[in-house]
Amino acid sequence: MVNTWKAPAKHDVNAQVTRAKLEAERAAHVQELEKLRATLLELPEMSAEEGDPAVAERAQTLGMIEQIENQITEVERTLATLRRGGYGICEQCGKPIDAERLQILPETRLCVKCKSQLEKKTHHRTW
Ligand SMILES: [Zn+2]
Repeated sequence: MVNTWKAPAKHDVNAQVTRAKLEAERAAHVQELEKLRATLLELPEMSAEEGDPAVAERAQTLGMIEQIENQITEVERTLATLRRGGYGICEQCGKPIDAERLQILPETRLCVKCKSQLEKKTHHRTW
């Protein structure tokens, strides 16, 4: 038996690990999404009644679904970058993103500086 396996370059190993991480993350999000959608189906229909706890619960669940859908989109975009090349480069300033940051947040596409600038502008999610 001929062993044709060659050790991939260090860069490729990292890309594979990152891809595996991102794919696991996406799978977890999808699972969560399915759970939330099932919860939503179980909730009683919207009632016009003021202060109906089901209304608040439904709104909250819808908000969570939207958030997870956004997260999935982010992860998929990052996976696309990984395939295309250029992963780990800030989309805003074109500088390499801190490796430590990438390890904690593999789906990030912005460096810390650009991200915080964006957050100041949008008052949006933090990561
Ligand atoms: Zn940047």
